[in-house]
Amino acid sequence: MHVDALAVVECQRPTSGWITVKGLVVDGERPQYTGHQGGTDMKITSYESAVLNIPEDDPLANMPEEAGRTRPIVILRLRTDAGVEGIGVTLWGGRLTSSLRAAVDELAALTIGEDAVRIERIIARLRDAAGSPGGPGGIFTLALAAIDIALWDIKARAAEQPLWKLLGGHRDRIATYASGSLRRGLTHDQAQRAACILVEKGFVEMKTQMALPGNPPPAEEIRRVRLVREAIGPDIRLMCDINQRWRPEQAIDIGSRVEDVGLFWLEDVTAADDYPGLARVTAALKTPIAGGEYVWGVIPFRHMIEARSVDIVMIDLARVGGITQWMKVAAMAEAFNLPVVSHIMPEIHAHLVAACPNGLTVEYMPWMLRLFEETPRLEKGALVLPDGHGISLKFDEKAVAAFRA
Ligand SMILES: [Mg+2]
Repeated sequence: MHVDALAVVECQRPTSGWITVKGLVVDGERPQYTGHQGGTDMKITSYESAVLNIPEDDPLANMPEEAGRTRPIVILRLRTDAGVEGIGVTLWGGRLTSSLRAAVDELAALTIGEDAVRIERIIARLRDAAGSPGGPGGIFTLALAAIDIALWDIKARAAEQPLWKLLGGHRDRIATYASGSLRRGLTHDQAQRAACILVEKGFVEMKTQMALPGNPPPAEEIRRVRLVREAIGPDIRLMCDINQRWRPEQAIDIGSRVEDVGLFWLEDVTAADDYPGLARVTAALKTPIAGGEYVWGVIPFRHMIEARSVDIVMIDLARVGGITQWMKVAAMAEAFNLPVVSHIMPEIHAHLVAACPNGLTVEYMPWMLRLFEETPRLEKGALVLPDGHGISLKFDEKAVAAFRA
């Protein structure tokens, strides 16, 4: 029998019922690409994860709200056959952190043999493998973040570029603000002293909190923020976080009474997913409203931004699902003429905020700094982006051993 070579279509009907046609697996609905068609792969060969308990203290002003408190995080190392290794980190697992680590391990196992620089393909594969979780959040998204960060680290190291340059490289230093030192649990006096220490250390931006413990009358809330402003003077940028603890009408009431304090922003003034409530506060106050650290994935940000809920979009690297999704949200914000800021992890976020034209400032929350041998340098109140390749971070093995759960 004569067979025309050009007409040969290799079809297999495995027991699963899927059909393979020239590298495309067709499941009846949607074609899925499965085969690499050339080029030089950098295959992922192994991974290693660990849970660490990192102190949630205050190395900036040494004024911890609650001494001895720790926070669990998951770290990841992803290795390739080219000898290039990437590191990732994730958190927000709380008491489910061992489950988060298991999810990181299970997803990392699925990346073995994949070409490390084909990040969107890997993300799609992991989503499919986990039952196509299209929902905005949860353990899958947090675990994906660790994998995605490690993949971008590998990609930038392989390109022999610092990550901030590979992602766009809009600027080589980025504004930053001290965070975690002026918390609501401190007395007014402690908060004033801590604020002075931050100014002495050269910070020109810092964040405090309202929604004080015990739900005091508004006059007491207002007193706190005025006292901090008095301590630092008029030229320091002062932000204030409410951590979702007010009702929209409270936010409008207290927010309007502190407008003369000149806050750089008021953050998470009410429930993070009350987009119309946030929009009401945003429209009512002259002070810019920031929010987004509790928003998961790309699509919920679309709803928040379309509702004009915030003036400043804050993105959390873990909850958004990693660097790939972070940059998509930043680009979406740019299209709406909105700046973006980061939530914790300054040592990685500095790359992302610096890369974007609409990047505004980096939260300098120093929880993880001591995990690394070297982190971006502070100079005149700004972070200087590193020249090293990838995210330019190396675990301090002694610190990793000390914090291991
Ligand atoms: Mg916050």
